[in-house]
Amino acid sequence: MRPEVLFPLFAPVNTLKGVGPRVAALLEKLEVTRILDLLWLLPHSHIDRSLRPNVEDALPGETVTLTLNILEHQPGRTDRQPYRIFAGDETGVIGLTFFRPRRDWLERQFPPGERRIVSGKLERYGDQFQMVHPEHVADPDKGEDVPLREPVYPLTAGLAPKSLRNAVVQAVERAPEISEWQDAAFRAKNRFPDWQSALRTVHSDGAAAPVGADTDGDPDLLARRRLAYDELLANQLALALVRQRMRRQGGRGLAVHPDGRMTQLRAALPWPLTGAQDRVIAEIIKDLQAPTRMLRLLQGDVGSGKTAVALLVATAVVEAGSQVALMVPTEVLARQHARTLTEMGAAIGLRVEALTGRDKGKARTAILQRLDAGEIDLVVGTHALFQDAIRFRDLGLAIIDEQHRFGVHQRMLLSAKARRTSDVLVMTATPIPRTLAMTAYGDMDVSRLDERPPGRKPVDTRVLPTDRAGAVVERLRGLMGRGERAYWICPLVDDESESEAAAAEARFRELQQQFGDRVGLVHGRLKPEEKDAALVAFADGKTSLLVATTVVEVGVDVPEATVIVIEDAERFGLAQLHQLRGRVGRGDRPGHCLLLYRPPLGETARKRLEVLRDTDDGFLIAEEDFRLRGGGDLLGTRQSGLPPMKLARVERDQDLLAAAHDDARLIVNNDPELQGKRGPDLRTLLYLFERDAAIRYLKSG
Ligand code: ADP
Ligand code: MG
Repeated sequence: MRPEVLFPLFAPVNTLKGVGPRVAALLEKLEVTRILDLLWLLPHSHIDRSLRPNVEDALPGETVTLTLNILEHQPGRTDRQPYRIFAGDETGVIGLTFFRPRRDWLERQFPPGERRIVSGKLERYGDQFQMVHPEHVADPDKGEDVPLREPVYPLTAGLAPKSLRNAVVQAVERAPEISEWQDAAFRAKNRFPDWQSALRTVHSDGAAAPVGADTDGDPDLLARRRLAYDELLANQLALALVRQRMRRQGGRGLAVHPDGRMTQLRAALPWPLTGAQDRVIAEIIKDLQAPTRMLRLLQGDVGSGKTAVALLVATAVVEAGSQVALMVPTEVLARQHARTLTEMGAAIGLRVEALTGRDKGKARTAILQRLDAGEIDLVVGTHALFQDAIRFRDLGLAIIDEQHRFGVHQRMLLSAKARRTSDVLVMTATPIPRTLAMTAYGDMDVSRLDERPPGRKPVDTRVLPTDRAGAVVERLRGLMGRGERAYWICPLVDDESESEAAAAEARFRELQQQFGDRVGLVHGRLKPEEKDAALVAFADGKTSLLVATTVVEVGVDVPEATVIVIEDAERFGLAQLHQLRGRVGRGDRPGHCLLLYRPPLGETARKRLEVLRDTDDGFLIAEEDFRLRGGGDLLGTRQSGLPPMKLARVERDQDLLAAAHDDARLIVNNDPELQGKRGPDLRTLLYLFERDAAIRYLKSG
């Protein structure tokens, strides 16, 4: 149960003074329904109202605070016309302008003959100055004044800044004193205030902030960092608890021997392993031998040789008497991987089978029976692999390939289904920056395949406007004449697979007019058999130009393909473009990538394509993309399945994230139940950030 000290924070906003149904409805548009949400709504800047000139000295464009005598009201002649009030001092007169006014209110607020202090932005209107809807009005004769500085909050139409400010001020008053969950030494080192003071500071009028470049001791910055750290710690703690829990379930040591059949197979491969492959295999073998469950993420750039790693560790598991399942995102890929692995594993008689949703009736039953009897060593399939009906004799290792599309929650589900799976290896080709990996895969240990097989030349990459497509077609004609193969990737169409397919069909027909039946077509709307057939025809060289949507993005391996043309490249994510580019240059001949864009190209879009043109290093590309666009598109919280961050920004707060990651691991490794000295306070933190799944784990032990 939620600690009592937090009760006031989870009360609805309408328990605050001045927050009636109208304001509450407006707040809801900002996703603010509870007091807590108001606290998390941090001001994005401050307005300075300390400039108090005479009318004569005031400049348009400035936020000014003026003391004025109210002169005359001039209501609009129709409802559409603004209501104007003239007011001035001994140096000049300005107009206060109101659209769609409430007349009685204006008459009460601005009685002619009295003095008022108004504050707002001054504008030029013809040859007059005016202030449209002053943000503050005060009566100096009653001792009222306007604030010198004031925080600015995100606003939604119709919600007056003053109403929001009023609600936030009350919310901050209700924030209780809570005993500290942060490590004392860490807090002292970072000069963080306590939680309650931090909230007061970030929501204050900002008067305490130092001016000039010295932001080192800026109390506002320190307070913000403290709150960001709280959120990151809650997030990392939740992930660490998930990890702890998953490791404890079904963990067992496998009797794998690195120098048995694995070494035999290694010797049979046509090339030596790279140093990185060697190192990663050793890391995995160690995990497999350990009595806890392996939860490891293998990050490896396109072409870094993840499949070989998977195959070799699978061999060791099979030799130890267990089975291995390899899960891939598409049926096409499942069949392709099954083919490759069968060939590679032939040297040691590895029994490989594909199982996808396409296998029905007798064929399917036969595969299921053989799995149950232990007559299949390695099964390759889609998520259908984890259906209840599928039983293994003894599933020792589940490998999930290219699954950057799934998140933490799906991984948890999956492992719950594969109850008897002791070890899980996730392979991703998206080179996620380290910090992002921590937020999205913080529940896993990470291995990096940071070296590519020798002798590969980087793919020659050009950026061209679409109107050069004609020349591109001529170039393809030449290449195809020499027996090379090419992909033509059609644009993404706003997530509508229907029109995406239509665009691909249209381009297919056009290219068919040029190249006849040497053109193939594959897109998401085709039946799985049709997709397979198109890919097989391309792989076998029956077609030499494959028009495709991004279905070829993941893992398709045709070494003879040397060119990839990508239309409307500016609309793709960089990581995705890098993936697509990785489809060529896999054989001995150099690869070419032509990125076609539709002009005019924006500044960021141009920079992004240039990054891709200038480097072939997936990790660098990912970092750059992350920097240029933020994490959202690459692997945002939406895709990672994590609740979105409210206070922290992963790209800005990398140092805090790393610290939170380490702290959380330490805490959970030492005290999985969080019963220790900091335990109860850390539980409060988890409740505060509503990490419900993690809290449930604590309860069920
Ligand atoms: P990934 O899945 O990481 O993108 P793959 O496993 O498909 O990469 O490997 C890419 C290509 O490199 C494949 O054709 C594979 O046979 C080859 N390969 C893998 N490891 C090596 C190695 N150590 N030396 C040479 N070629 C390798
Ligand atoms: Mg692969």
